[in-house]
Amino acid sequence: MRNLLYVLLAAFLISCGKNSADLIIHKAAIYTVDSSFSVATAMAIKDGKILAIGTDDQILQQFISDSLIDAAGATIFPGWIDAHAHFVGYGESLFKVNLFGTKTWEEAVERVKAFAIQHPELTWIEGRGWDQNKWPGKQFPDNTLLNELFPDKPVILTRIDGHASIANEKALTLSGIRIGQSIEGGAILEKNGKLTGVLIDNADNAVYASIPAITPENFEKILRAAQENCFASGITSITDCGLSNRVVEQIDSLQKSGKLLMRLNVMLSDQSDNLAIWLAKGVYTTDRLRVGSFKVYADGALGSRGACLLHDYADQPGWKGFLLRSPAHYDSVAALLAASPFQMCTHAIGDSANRSILAIYQKYLKGKNDRRWRIEHAQIVHPDDFNRFGNASVVPSVQPTHATSDMYWASERLGKERLKGGYAFQQLLQQNGWLPLGTDFPVEDISPFKTFLAAVARKDAQGFPAQGFQMENALTREQAIRGMTIWAAKAGFQEKELGSLEPGKKADFVMLSSNLMKIPDTAILQTKVMATYVGGKCVYKSK
Ligand SMILES: [Zn+2]
Repeated sequence: MRNLLYVLLAAFLISCGKNSADLIIHKAAIYTVDSSFSVATAMAIKDGKILAIGTDDQILQQFISDSLIDAAGATIFPGWIDAHAHFVGYGESLFKVNLFGTKTWEEAVERVKAFAIQHPELTWIEGRGWDQNKWPGKQFPDNTLLNELFPDKPVILTRIDGHASIANEKALTLSGIRIGQSIEGGAILEKNGKLTGVLIDNADNAVYASIPAITPENFEKILRAAQENCFASGITSITDCGLSNRVVEQIDSLQKSGKLLMRLNVMLSDQSDNLAIWLAKGVYTTDRLRVGSFKVYADGALGSRGACLLHDYADQPGWKGFLLRSPAHYDSVAALLAASPFQMCTHAIGDSANRSILAIYQKYLKGKNDRRWRIEHAQIVHPDDFNRFGNASVVPSVQPTHATSDMYWASERLGKERLKGGYAFQQLLQQNGWLPLGTDFPVEDISPFKTFLAAVARKDAQGFPAQGFQMENALTREQAIRGMTIWAAKAGFQEKELGSLEPGKKADFVMLSSNLMKIPDTAILQTKVMATYVGGKCVYKSK
């Protein structure tokens, strides 16, 4: 009798013209991030896409679903999109010694020692995250301690920004690095006629080339570990900056077999084989993958004084940093990409690197356009050069937490005056009216809330500085949310499918414990991710 009633009820509802949905969420504060930044309370989802979004009444009158979630007032945003990160590199870092936050070189070495005891199976020990600027004396270390502890096992430890490393003697020998050797776009540091083990920029390439390749099983383990942490942070799509063709193929097959759910927009690294293969192949898109850009490096980072500046470093007279390749190289890549549908995305930190790349971009882009060529970081820009972004529609791709990490020492490198053109996010946003945001993890923590706080309040996780760092370049909360969603999607030509919650778009969203548009700055980092959905499927739920 009861079953019959349900059947009759269902028939009645269908006859009333209700459409079935796979999932309905109601009683939520849904920031759609559409063009008017409208807020809805309910949405219906089917086949991984949003069917409709509106008020509870509108949605519940039109749709019916076996899966109805009462969000109890929770805030929903489109899934976070990280416009510049290293997803694969982050996964690898989870299986390396974590040297972030070490207060001395000795502490870093202690962590390496403990890690080596825990992982006797590893034939190489890799680590990441040291920063001599956080240590007493702020000097680069040397490898004496590492050589004593590990005479027979190669060790390579990368600096926090990835632009310098320290290797022990065993690793240097295996890689064929010799005293007095010169390397284009890199430097091998020596002291008293001996190698210190410190390798700047391109100098560590030989060491990394000596490390045995990761097996497919380990690769899957690495990516799934990275994905788990990202979903727990509400990140549903990532632009991975600089991968090889082999890695892209592995990712594609893991996604196709359903083993990897993260959406990725891949920048191919600037290698001749990548260029040859992909320029012939063209832009590639699947449900979860887009390959449509190349990542080029113009210079290094400010912390290791590898950023290429127009004038001397304030704390090292006579030194301006350097470009990693010749201007002719950047020009030749730009010429190839200009004749293709691919985006050119160039890492440029120093004002000289930014100026050089902007000039090359302008030469090929010739005024306003929709090619969305990007400058990654656009960290220090000369006052005369800001308008070049707008004039050639060049997209600055910035990472707000770099500002709050670097602010402690950036004025030592640059001096106060030059620093004003540094981390100038609002000024850059005004150039094209939009600005994608990223984190650059694992260089920074993966937390999107730290990005949001750094963008709007220009403060770090400790709430420093109380008044905010160079507040004239803070973003509004709406701008920051757009930067982490729709503008990040747009920077990868994905704004038609991702980045906002509108009918027809992919149902990627994050449910939060508090409303980022309304809470005070001090509560931003307390925000909890309650659930994350990719293509309408729950991929993370808080316990
Ligand atoms: Zn990066």
